[in-house]
Amino acid sequence: MSLGSFNLHHPATVAEACALGARFGRTAAYLAGGTELLVDLRSGRKAVAEVIALGGIAELRGVRAIKGGLEIGATTPLAAIAESPHVMAGFPALSEGIATMAGRQVRNLGTIGGNFSCGVPCSDTPPIVCAAGGRVALVAPDGSEREVAARQFVLAPRVTVLQPGEIVTAIRLPEQPARSGASFQRFSLRRGSALAVASVVAWVRLEKDVVAEARIYMGAVGPVPLQAAQAEASLVGQAAGEATFAAAGALAAAEAQPISDLRGSAQFRREIVAVLTARALAAAARRAEGGAR
Ligand SMILES: Cc1cc2nc3c(=O)[nH]c(=O)nc-3n(C[C@H](O)[C@H](O)[C@H](O)COP(=O)(O)OP(=O)(O)OC[C@H]3O[C@@H](n4cnc5c(N)ncnc54)[C@H](O)[C@@H]3O)c2cc1C
Repeated sequence: MSLGSFNLHHPATVAEACALGARFGRTAAYLAGGTELLVDLRSGRKAVAEVIALGGIAELRGVRAIKGGLEIGATTPLAAIAESPHVMAGFPALSEGIATMAGRQVRNLGTIGGNFSCGVPCSDTPPIVCAAGGRVALVAPDGSEREVAARQFVLAPRVTVLQPGEIVTAIRLPEQPARSGASFQRFSLRRGSALAVASVVAWVRLEKDVVAEARIYMGAVGPVPLQAAQAEASLVGQAAGEATFAAAGALAAAEAQPISDLRGSAQFRREIVAVLTARALAAAARRAEGGAR
């Protein structure tokens, strides 16, 4: 199938993009790396009359330290994020998560803003940002700005809080506390260019060898990035160790809401979640103990 026919716009600033968004509303789509949008246009899942390319807007690109954390511009390519010294040092789970996504070509083009905005349940970066306590910065067509907690951004498969014409401008990650660590674990049917069958991100903060706080988010096993609240609660106050993590894995598996599809049955996905959760917790605890997050 062809991409269909549309007008292509190249705004140079967020303000210009907002003006186009306001003018065209639901008849337009923003284009970042195009690795999701162009597939949707070609398959007929989406049809738009106007495409607004965000790639020429310098202010939307780059990883920078901000007061209290890190800001990742929405159109920063995934590969650049994974290789950013700021991300590798402060948020290694994000680097390791991106490294498992797609292939190099897609990671060079695809962006974190696009990975959030498409609202696809198996998108890999939203659960990682949720576990880090991250937020999504948005600007509306009238220029007004707002911030939404990452865990509230995706509402249902392919449905997000984005209003017509609204743009994701950045993902913001708060500085992580001492003795905390996170890990991303994913299972896919092959290495490279395969979507996740299931993924789990675990984040822990330790006091001595006891889990003081825990956050667990699961990807590809529910309509949105799912928080495993019971598994998290089971960890608090417990000694960090294999038995504790295995028990949390069993709870996370019960909290998952997987479907059966060509990548795996619901039951298989639950079993995978149990294993990935225990692995992610063990790796997160090692990072917390070692001081590296
Ligand atoms: C071969 C292949 C393998 C893939 N593997 C994976 C994988 O392993 N894991 C994974 O998570 N994804 C994967 N994807 C999906 C895709 O590459 C990612 O979701 C990517 O991050 C999308 O970013 P993009 O910049 O290309 O988005 P685009 O395609 O440009 O946009 C996606 C959607 O978001 C909207 N949008 C984009 N940017 C913004 C913004 N700043 N503000 C508002 N709306 C915006 C667009 O209008 C569109 O609706 C794969 C895709 C392909 C083709």
